[in-house]
Amino acid sequence: MTTTPDTSQMTRAQRAELPLSTEVAQALAEQHGVCIRPLAMRRIDTTTGRVEIVPVPCGSTREDQCPPCAEKARRLRMAQCREGWHLDAEPVTERAAPSDEHTTLLAARADLLAAYTECKINGDTEACEHIAASVAELDTELRAAGVQGRLTPLDPLPKPVKRSTRRRQDAPNLPRRPVERRTVGRVFAGRYRPSTFLTLTLDSYGRVDSDGAAVDPDRYDYRRAARDAIHFPALLDRFWQNTRRCVGWDVQYFGTIEPQKRGAPHFHAAIRGAIPRAELRTIAAATYHQVWWPAHDQLRYTDERLPVWDTRAKAFTDPDTGHPLPTWEQACEELTEPAHVVRFGAQVHVKGILGAPRKLAATSAT
Ligand SMILES: [Zn+2]
Repeated sequence: MTTTPDTSQMTRAQRAELPLSTEVAQALAEQHGVCIRPLAMRRIDTTTGRVEIVPVPCGSTREDQCPPCAEKARRLRMAQCREGWHLDAEPVTERAAPSDEHTTLLAARADLLAAYTECKINGDTEACEHIAASVAELDTELRAAGVQGRLTPLDPLPKPVKRSTRRRQDAPNLPRRPVERRTVGRVFAGRYRPSTFLTLTLDSYGRVDSDGAAVDPDRYDYRRAARDAIHFPALLDRFWQNTRRCVGWDVQYFGTIEPQKRGAPHFHAAIRGAIPRAELRTIAAATYHQVWWPAHDQLRYTDERLPVWDTRAKAFTDPDTGHPLPTWEQACEELTEPAHVVRFGAQVHVKGILGAPRKLAATSAT
């Protein structure tokens, strides 16, 4: 027989050992495979005016944040990958033609945008605020009416600084073909439509032992390893851009970034369609990403000597000279070369894979 513990008779240490109610709730949620940290959303019934609180799953893809949601996302990705990897017909999405309601709403929005710009030039902030509120309402209506895509912002951001895109001397030339509107791979010998499994890694930063630790910590290039890891996603973006331009069709893939034992990320991708091994190797070798950041390899200010906020200059200033520190944009304008260049390592693993015949289940049943 179990009795309910009387917490008033317990010491503080004994009480600290009891599970917290939130922890119990989380464990219970995990056991039942439902979200452990749902978001509370307020739903207003527009006809009755009744307000309800509805829990919405967090939808995290990270197991450390919400195991049930991450597992659900993983299963969905697995199913999508299995279904989509070896597709033999183009997945077509038909967009609905815009209705009268859509065009009327968009026209009204364009008029308001013009009025806003005019009021802004005239310095009429009150009118600007009114118009902005109407536009926000219209945008909600447009989204509710099912309009997708970007709506012109009222206050467009200043254009980013233009950079020279001059190709580096040491990057090999890639052929450039116009990109066809096709995502499905070619058929070989009349019936085979292979797909590709690709693994990309980063360079070596020094020898590592079987645990992935540096054999010689003094000579291991930790700094380059860290920067390469931080900018790896941008390098991957460049890789897919280069791949599509080089092969001439709209290559689709499923991918995952995983850490190697040495801590460096590497990338696995299941690519729909076949791309020759030599071509993927050439593209990987030709791909690089330049990081146009101000120099960030020296600590200029420490806890003993920090920049000082100057209320009149509205900026942080140097504690010795009193000069305002440059903003990120100002510091970037003076750059003549990138602070870092990321590239892939020499190891590029490519494997051609034949998809299982898609109608197998149907044919074996008859
Ligand atoms: Zn969740």
